[in-house]
Amino acid sequence: MAPHAEDGVNGSSGASSLDFTTFSNIIDGKLSSTSQTRHGINPATDKPNPEVPVSTPEDVDRAVEAAKKAAKSWANTSYADRRKAVLAFADGLEKEKDAFAQFLTKEQGKPLHWAYFELDFALSAIRTMAGLELPTDVVADEEGRKIIVRYTPLGTVVGIVPWNYPILLCVTKIAPAVVTGNPIIIKPSPFTPYGGLKLVELAQRYFPAGVVQGLSGDDNLGPWLTSHPGPAKISFTGSSATGKKVMASASKTLKRVTLELGGNDPAIILEDVNIKEVAAKVATLAFLNSGQICLALKRIFVHEKIFDEFRDAMVEHTKTLKLGEAHEEGVFLGPIQNSMQYERVKGFFGEIEKEKLNVAVGGKNPDGPGYFITPTIIDRPKEDSRLVVEEPFGPIVPLLSFSTDEEAITKANNTNYGLGASVWSSNLDRATKIAEQLEAGNIWINTHFELDIRAPYGGHKESGIGIEFGIGGLKSYCNSQTVYLKK
Ligand code: NAD
Repeated sequence: MAPHAEDGVNGSSGASSLDFTTFSNIIDGKLSSTSQTRHGINPATDKPNPEVPVSTPEDVDRAVEAAKKAAKSWANTSYADRRKAVLAFADGLEKEKDAFAQFLTKEQGKPLHWAYFELDFALSAIRTMAGLELPTDVVADEEGRKIIVRYTPLGTVVGIVPWNYPILLCVTKIAPAVVTGNPIIIKPSPFTPYGGLKLVELAQRYFPAGVVQGLSGDDNLGPWLTSHPGPAKISFTGSSATGKKVMASASKTLKRVTLELGGNDPAIILEDVNIKEVAAKVATLAFLNSGQICLALKRIFVHEKIFDEFRDAMVEHTKTLKLGEAHEEGVFLGPIQNSMQYERVKGFFGEIEKEKLNVAVGGKNPDGPGYFITPTIIDRPKEDSRLVVEEPFGPIVPLLSFSTDEEAITKANNTNYGLGASVWSSNLDRATKIAEQLEAGNIWINTHFELDIRAPYGGHKESGIGIEFGIGGLKSYCNSQTVYLKK
């Protein structure tokens, strides 16, 4: 079965039928408007994007009710049929890839080729997650009894999404939630509501009413959803500060939470690397998406023996990274996504003069329009400075030095975050020994940020609770149920 495979939202079917000029909530299989609306801003031009709904508590009630209505039959739909629907959704999205990528540049600001990268990653994430097998674990099968563990749907899930990867982080919640039999209500960021709402609109062609719903709103909407007694789980991606509020709110009805939060990822560069090659990769991984990645490199520790040479090579590469509007030829960095974040990142630049920081490259930002920040490297700021301790979430990064492996490990672990970390060396044994002592959920050797959806993903310390991706990620949308069978 491919539920509702032929029914488009407007009774249409086929590929390019989505309208990217109007955006609605999607409740119980239908487009739904609100009396109040708001809009996002194109961060490259300061121009307004289209109006989107501002949901009310009544909209939340209606969506939760529709999800509840849909939950039972969706849970009873076979895994194979749910998988078929998810894969059909991916095929539908692939047909709309150009439209989604173009709009992503308008709402998020990222260069067009990185918008395509996000869409491609999203497509492969959906397909990979749908391809995973959710097992029934046989714990014992012996004389007289059998013990098995089944994984059953939790019920309604709320997916709360940030603004840096609005499409990818939507589908990495939709696909595992629905393939494991749960309805989901998506709440995109108020800064980037468009792609998320359109994805949910598209999903209506492949899922029964109430299985995939979308609500946009202002700052009230998240707390209304997390405190509502209906949902069974909140899957949240965002900052650690907000993650704590989500957990507190969810605790009132003991909702399950998965929290994918902030990071302050270190890279440890040993003295035996190919300096030019690694410096270029490290600069790319610090400035990709204008530094607005939870897993961007945010603290770069370089062995003192190669510090100057490595810094100079990183500076050279950074000078080649072009800042500009998404469609400009050769552009690598777009603007910061929103004015609030822009002001926050500029705050770090304000400290350059105050703290007498050494600017290795960058340091001066263009005037408007648009929230453009020049990629900037700061040479050895104090290790208790804001730039080192906090997550700037913008294209400004500190270069720091160390002299022994122990010192590098201690410095890298000196943070409340624990999302990712990497070690760079031509000696894999030494790099592995260092890597195994790092306090982070994702450790790379000689690369960073290269995720594989088959593997579990999550943060240590204040970078999160629980995991997404892999079989563990699927199980996080399920109750575990142990069955004791007396033979
Ligand atoms: P944010 O925490 O401000 O917002 C994230 C989402 O939460 C938005 O949809 C927002 O509207 C909603 N929200 C805000 N207050 C809420 C509340 N009280 N209750 C419920 N929902 C609420 O984060 P952001 O600024 O959108 O994103 C940047 C942050 O996200 C960075 O810290 C980044 O590291 C983190 N992030 C983490 C991952 C990861 O996988 N670990 C991925 C991407 C981004």
